[in-house]
Amino acid sequence: MDAIQKKILDSIDQNSVRIADFAQDIYKNGETGYQEFRTAGKVRAFFDSLGLPTEEGLAITGVKATLGGHYKRTVALIGELDGVRCEKHPDANPINGIAHACGHHIQLAALVGSALALSDPEVAAMLGANVAFWAVPAEEHVDADVRDKLIAQGRIRYITGKGELIRIGEFDGVDAVVVHHVHYAPLEADVLIGCNSSNGYVTKNIRILGRASHAAAAPEKGINALNAAALGFSAVAYQRETFRDEDRVRVHGIVEKGGGAVNVVPEEVVVEAMVRAKTIQAIKDASEKVDRAFRGAAYALGAKVEIKDIPGYLPVIAQPPQRPLREAADVLGNMATIQKADLSGHNPLSTDVGDLSQLMPVLGFTTGGCTGTLHGPDFRVVDLPRTCRLAAKMMALTAYSLLKNQAEELKEIRERFHPQLTKHEYLAYMDGAFQ
Ligand SMILES: [Zn+2]
Ligand SMILES: [Zn+2]
Repeated sequence: MDAIQKKILDSIDQNSVRIADFAQDIYKNGETGYQEFRTAGKVRAFFDSLGLPTEEGLAITGVKATLGGHYKRTVALIGELDGVRCEKHPDANPINGIAHACGHHIQLAALVGSALALSDPEVAAMLGANVAFWAVPAEEHVDADVRDKLIAQGRIRYITGKGELIRIGEFDGVDAVVVHHVHYAPLEADVLIGCNSSNGYVTKNIRILGRASHAAAAPEKGINALNAAALGFSAVAYQRETFRDEDRVRVHGIVEKGGGAVNVVPEEVVVEAMVRAKTIQAIKDASEKVDRAFRGAAYALGAKVEIKDIPGYLPVIAQPPQRPLREAADVLGNMATIQKADLSGHNPLSTDVGDLSQLMPVLGFTTGGCTGTLHGPDFRVVDLPRTCRLAAKMMALTAYSLLKNQAEELKEIRERFHPQLTKHEYLAYMDGAFQ
């Protein structure tokens, strides 16, 4: 451990209570995506207390503080602002039913803890690139109606915070990002370095239009939209043997509207479905099959169908534990158990870190210290101060290893990286690849 690494650890240890209090306050006051005004205000206040120049209101609630600012290269450290809808969680915000049952308050603790440690003048002097501390909005796909309204008002175009920030140019010129999450699945180790792949997805709004008629007196005069929907789901099921195992396809849906009155042939049925897979190509393939299933079912029943696709998150491209993560983990090795991600693993769930991973290098790690189910009412952090300290130390040490020696590791990682999509291709995908 060098003197700067020791200083980083000491700063975080000395401010452990402050960082944990900050996290606890965020935890108790969860907010939904693009509405995280209070949370963003708290993050901003923390950055202000460190004397860092800060911008706010980016993609509505995003907050960014910058350390450096005059270097050619930039690394972004990321924390997510939003919670999930989980009214049954005992610590859900009583005003809105949002709980931090995905552990994003720990990410924000890591973010402000890193800002605190790295902005120490002695530490900052050793960094050879800008550091953007990013609190980003709207990672969770909940409260779609709120986002639909914001899209209709022209205040955002994409449902996901990171996608929206990419669109408005906030990630232009960012050479790499460092991201943290609590473990996605139960794991003994305190820290897991590297990122497994995750599924991306598209959401489908499927509106089936039949014809109303008396359900008993004259069903032959009606067109039953609910029957068409049921047939559509069956046709999707018959497609499943065509999904390749390695594509990890998951198709799941709900009937949002199933008809009007029980004695009337259902005239309008609305299905919301998600199509997930490991690659963009596989998402497109499965999406087309789902479309065919519902179009064919509607045709069979004589109904009409309208399908609207809303691109969600892109697949996360697996990233091995790059050297800065390994160096950070080595420093923490005597106070935490460390594991490297098994890159043959795959997360079937989705995160908008995937969008970033298609465009730029991602250095990712997850931390433990939580029990219960992610997004569930039993989700708990066992020892908040320790969990916050560990996440903050990992993030700050990783950034330091990336940026010491004139940011040689950052340069190397950037030069080795081949993006799957250019920003232009990304925007084209988001704006119409499924329309
Ligand atoms: Zn989540
Ligand atoms: Zn999450």
